[in-house]
Amino acid sequence: MKKLLSAVLSFFMAITVSAQPRGVDRGTPVFQNEDVVFYKIDDHTWAGNGHLMSNESLYIVEGNNSALLIDVGTNIKDLDKIVASITDKPVKLVATHVHPDHIGASVNYFDEVYIHPADTVNVASMMGNYRGKIIYMKEGDVFDLGGRRIEVVHTPGHTPGSVTFLDYAAGYGFSGDSFGSGNLLVFDKMSSFISTCEKMKKIMADKGIKVLYPGHFFGANLETPKRVDDMLTVSKGVMEGTMKGEPAANSLVPNALIITGEGFRINYSEAALR
Ligand SMILES: [Zn+2]
Repeated sequence: MKKLLSAVLSFFMAITVSAQPRGVDRGTPVFQNEDVVFYKIDDHTWAGNGHLMSNESLYIVEGNNSALLIDVGTNIKDLDKIVASITDKPVKLVATHVHPDHIGASVNYFDEVYIHPADTVNVASMMGNYRGKIIYMKEGDVFDLGGRRIEVVHTPGHTPGSVTFLDYAAGYGFSGDSFGSGNLLVFDKMSSFISTCEKMKKIMADKGIKVLYPGHFFGANLETPKRVDDMLTVSKGVMEGTMKGEPAANSLVPNALIITGEGFRINYSEAALR
């Protein structure tokens, strides 16, 4: 596991940090210690970043009665207390997907976690030896936080059970690694990712979703309708054989090919095309 973590770290450091705009002003942190920094998105929404794997991101989304914590990062000491210092509402933990930089060791500060059942395959190896209760959520489930509703959309491709959480009233959502934060790793099928892009493209247009906050947020790399549309074009081209990536030795995707689009890369393997 340690080896995997450091491989992920060096991989992301090498290819994403240099690609990020420098000096993005995210305001004054509302909380900061050696493990995590939280910034305000708006009056009832906060973005946190861990420092272990390419700014792994977690989000607090607050309603009148309760709040969601979306992901827990890799290993943030006393995360439950930190979250309680930002919101005084009771908190439910939900996971965008089961990978160790999103639902890592700090998951054990929480008694329950919601995941999509299709990511159950990763629980044993990647979910921090979780001792609490796993609850399954599915497409269309709504978390009613009191005056604020967050809907679950299944967005597989990165993993089979990746989901995106949408706040239609606010016009934004939280997509974890579903669209890659600029560097998508397709561990699932490319056809699943194509369906995900088609679905999200339509939802964003129909419901006025302007941006998705990604799983590795640096302050400027939001997923946009244009990004989703561009990724759809490229992934379709790859699937149909009109586009092909270059072999890459340093990807976490086994036998990876990497194809580059405008502001993003897609790591996939031939196996993902079958
Ligand atoms: Zn991931």
